[in-house]
Amino acid sequence: MITNSSHTSAIDSWRSRPAAQQPDWPDHEELDQVAAHLKNAPPLVYAAECDRLRDQLGAVARGEAFLLQGGDCAETFAGNTAPAVEGKLRTLLQMAVVLTHGSSLPVVKVGRLAGQYAKPRSSGTEVREGMALPSYRGDAVNGHAFTEADRRPDPQRLRTMYEASTTTLNLVRAFMTGGGADLSLVHRWNQGFLEGTPAVGRYERIAGEIDRALAFMRACGVDPGALHATEMYASHEGLLLDYEAALTRVEPETGLAYATSGHLVWIGERTRDLDGAHVEYFSRISNPVAVKLGPTATPDTVLALSERLNPDQIPGRLTFVVRMGAEKVRDLLPDLVGKVAAEGLVVPWVCDPMHGNTFTASTGHKTRHFDDVLNEVAGFFEVHRSLGTHPGGLHMELTGDDVTECLGGGYNLEADDLCLRYETACDPRLNHSQSLDVAFLVAEMLRNHRR
Ligand code: PEP
Ligand code: MN
Repeated sequence: MITNSSHTSAIDSWRSRPAAQQPDWPDHEELDQVAAHLKNAPPLVYAAECDRLRDQLGAVARGEAFLLQGGDCAETFAGNTAPAVEGKLRTLLQMAVVLTHGSSLPVVKVGRLAGQYAKPRSSGTEVREGMALPSYRGDAVNGHAFTEADRRPDPQRLRTMYEASTTTLNLVRAFMTGGGADLSLVHRWNQGFLEGTPAVGRYERIAGEIDRALAFMRACGVDPGALHATEMYASHEGLLLDYEAALTRVEPETGLAYATSGHLVWIGERTRDLDGAHVEYFSRISNPVAVKLGPTATPDTVLALSERLNPDQIPGRLTFVVRMGAEKVRDLLPDLVGKVAAEGLVVPWVCDPMHGNTFTASTGHKTRHFDDVLNEVAGFFEVHRSLGTHPGGLHMELTGDDVTECLGGGYNLEADDLCLRYETACDPRLNHSQSLDVAFLVAEMLRNHRR
């Protein structure tokens, strides 16, 4: 915990609160220099884009849209390549098509990308063979290799994070508006992915139906112009407050402050303390924000978070992302959703079926089983069905690469397969085929929910 009592303006009010999960920067002068540099750097996103996403999340809250949020657990500087980013984008687009096709609901697409470089850790140090070093906190802070040099927190990495985020977001914008996301190319999004998998076969059938629908519209003289491009927003956990504060900008016309590091930022399970620096900082920005809720979240906490972060009850301003675990979601979620609804609050409820279902496999790899992921989503839908509320979306850790990090799915990956291609810098991600499998099954749940 770091407490810093310099209190300069409202947006800096977080500095007088305890900030959990901040790196132990060895050189604060250097940190200040980097922050000063970032304070003058161009924003990654504009306030108007953030407002548009907030309005779309308002539609999610009302049950008129579905949110798909996904990407790496931890982006890495080395992983910031065109094939990797495009693979994630195409996976998200394919999932969105499957979900839209199955549910007839618009899907709001938000990547965990262009800024997802900092990680909270359960322990500040890692011990290997008797040697203790600072834990890896993401490429924004230190290196992954278990050496003293790599694990030393380096403020210059915040600059690299900003630069890497700008190149990723540039690619996202070019891809989404420059033809990459054109719905008439729905088959092409399969390029580069393993052919012949059950998921790809099912996807091709839907792509064929979309082709016919587009041809029908054209034959009728309707120009499906709106289908040539779509929006993909950028999101990350707003963990490193020095970074977020340095990229906060006040809109001259409205006087409102925005985190310009991404469209949506969220508060993680370990930093949602009501009196902590994160809630304080987030209460001062006008972006759409989300909070992760794990098994210890009580209805009182959730209502207090809503009061702190969305006192004016602006639809879409605050999203709750629940990550209870497959075993607990049916027991713990009804009370939260029920009490929030009883207060008349309309919020997007989003299911993160990843973080409550992590375990260590016999091989020593941190993993998750596809069946647990699906079971948590099913429980999430059951709860909303019984309460008459809207299951608003999915928050996933996934990649377009054919990694072997999570068990099960169409290929039925087993523990012995994990070593084949285990590449994550932090938590295990669904691979492309497993991600599509989830989309098909959730599309069916959404369709049944809306019947
Ligand atoms: C994450 O999203 O990678 C994460 C750390 O989640 P949580 O805060 O829910 O544990
Ligand atoms: Mn994670």
